[in-house]
Amino acid sequence: MIVVMSPSSTKEETKKVEHKLLALGFKTHPIYGEVKTVIGAIGDKRMLDTQLITTMNGVEKIVPIMKPYKLAGKELKKDKTIIEIGDVRIGGEEIVLMAGPCAVEDEEAFYETARKVKAAGAKILRGGAFKPRTSPYAFQGLEEEGLHMLDRARNETGLLIVTEVVDTRDVETVAKYSDIVQIGARNMQNFRLLKEAGAANKPVLLKRGLSATIEEWLMAAEYVISTGNPNIILCERGIRTFETATRNTIDISAIPVVKELSHLPIIADPSHATGTWKYVNALSKAAVAAGADGLLIEVHNEPEKALCDGPQSLKPKKFAELVEELKIVAAAVQRKI
Ligand code: PEP
Ligand code: MN
Repeated sequence: MIVVMSPSSTKEETKKVEHKLLALGFKTHPIYGEVKTVIGAIGDKRMLDTQLITTMNGVEKIVPIMKPYKLAGKELKKDKTIIEIGDVRIGGEEIVLMAGPCAVEDEEAFYETARKVKAAGAKILRGGAFKPRTSPYAFQGLEEEGLHMLDRARNETGLLIVTEVVDTRDVETVAKYSDIVQIGARNMQNFRLLKEAGAANKPVLLKRGLSATIEEWLMAAEYVISTGNPNIILCERGIRTFETATRNTIDISAIPVVKELSHLPIIADPSHATGTWKYVNALSKAAVAAGADGLLIEVHNEPEKALCDGPQSLKPKKFAELVEELKIVAAAVQRKI
């Protein structure tokens, strides 16, 4: 990092800052300019409480050189992370499709949807058992009973399971029944949950927070990786903007930006991004064209009867049609489905 001294700072103050940095284990390289003095400080800033320096007399600001997300970033790991679960590889050449209803509801209908999304090309079945609903009066999910249904659907179809955990107390149970543990947008900065989900040793699907910057999102990933679990799939699911025509605004540019900054795979969720099934097709294709490693799409056998997110859910037939269109887009960007 570089410590920039204010133009009015004295030599004495610069020396004091240098001594403090040395005492904190940094190597220092002061450069005395005509107007401004800066101190190059070389060392690991991860554990540094920067206030120790910024509050010192004469200090104007600290300019970090390295990204704060050391493990999630590309500075220390250049090669892409590919997450292998069974014979599914996330982050490789293949674009991985995850599909299923917002919530696990009726068992028979769920299996039927599972079979249909599998036939269409999905490799991973989604379905919430613990639902983070905005209203406490809305359907909250079938909880453990829902996890058992997911488990049976996995046994019956061979699909892998991704499902959300909303509470640290349920991490162990959710991890036991799932192949990928999802952290939802509302919990992206629930740091205890991030750490516990990371420690559960299952790949973590980390959704972007409703109003999170890319840096905040990567810092949330850093929480998970720092538990020793490098298997994180980032998911762009739309962010809150001034626009009200769609439920959220999908940030397509986040896909190439994250690829530039991080080695982690990134997928997109066009369902929660738009809130309307009609737009899911176009944005799925846009996400794949922009380099997404996969898609998370809500599919429901009878969306009009869904207890959660029916308006944004595709019917299985529409999902199958979308997959055919996606194959063409994938081929155009040297990927496959
Ligand atoms: C979900 O995927 O079921 C969900 C609740 O999504 P998000 O956290 O993106 O709102
Ligand atoms: Mn949903």
